[in-house]
Amino acid sequence: MSLPLICDLSRDELAAWCQAQGEETYRADQIRKWIFGKRVNDFEAMTDLSAGLRHKLAESFVIFSSDIARHQKSKDGTEKLLVELRDSEKVECVLMREDDRRTICISTQVGCGMGCVFCASGLLGLSRNLSTGEIVEQILRLDRLLPPLERITNIVVMGMGEPLANLPSLLKALGTLDEKGGLGLSPRRITISTVGLPEKIRELAHFGKPYNLAVSLHAPNDALRNELVPVNKTIGIEAILSAADEFFEQTGRRVTYEYVVLGGRNDSVEEARELAGLLRGRNAHINLIPMNAVSELPFHDPEAECLRKFVEVLEQSGVTTTVRKRKGADIDAACGQLRLRNAGVQASARDV
Ligand code: SF4
Repeated sequence: MSLPLICDLSRDELAAWCQAQGEETYRADQIRKWIFGKRVNDFEAMTDLSAGLRHKLAESFVIFSSDIARHQKSKDGTEKLLVELRDSEKVECVLMREDDRRTICISTQVGCGMGCVFCASGLLGLSRNLSTGEIVEQILRLDRLLPPLERITNIVVMGMGEPLANLPSLLKALGTLDEKGGLGLSPRRITISTVGLPEKIRELAHFGKPYNLAVSLHAPNDALRNELVPVNKTIGIEAILSAADEFFEQTGRRVTYEYVVLGGRNDSVEEARELAGLLRGRNAHINLIPMNAVSELPFHDPEAECLRKFVEVLEQSGVTTTVRKRKGADIDAACGQLRLRNAGVQASARDV
């Protein structure tokens, strides 16, 4: 039988395990420091623990349960891992370098059940949720790609899967990062993305930690959003905006709205006006993500002039707008693309 992942345990749970072995609870912080701070991959290397405790750890847990199936490196410093889990399922995670920032993007599910029509991650449907340890493991894998003096500065939970559909495992994984012995990464540097599940947005709002929220809107009206993001049919934009407003009121954190710009589908001046109408007066920021045309699906990049006008309309309406820079253009950077390629499926997606 395979051993459990040590990173499935919170700091308190690990301290309780130490106590049950007749050890002092502070040993949990020492163990975590070796794993998170000193990037050690083997209990035997934890030299300030007794040989007996190291032996018990090795008999009880593993630090990694996954293998790296593929490792791609882009010329711009972006690195992407295809991580193979114990059951042979695969998920992707990415490290992006920009100035002093070392941002990672992690997955929360194997596949995705939301079915957004322009996304490679959803093409094979949802296989399963990731455990807390499997989420932490991606963070540790990416952290170990950095040189000794560099650390992860930001996390975006925007990889494969709908993060709010696996909220308990995700919150436990993120919580462990700013507990003693963890990475020391503040929740303010972590952004959780969602297609917009109102009840879960409210749960996150009241969780008591200042995570950032990014809502993937992609369309300014329900008719178009129902086509692009099918799960919208049972939710509706109004319910999402109302939950996001509550998130802002509760946390004081400005909500980001993500909008994949699909050439000829959602990038007209009319749609920009409609979008501005939705967000004007809200403490919101819109992040436009030009589609990556790597596709046989009927989606392509917006024309530069259309994108320019789209931005202009939003800015003239007073909505703070940014256009996301493309990272990892020379690798399979689109979310889910590497996994699909590996599975022998023709990829067709953008980076989410
Ligand atoms: S865009 Fe996000 S929510 Fe939509 S199918 Fe892809 S991973 Fe799922």
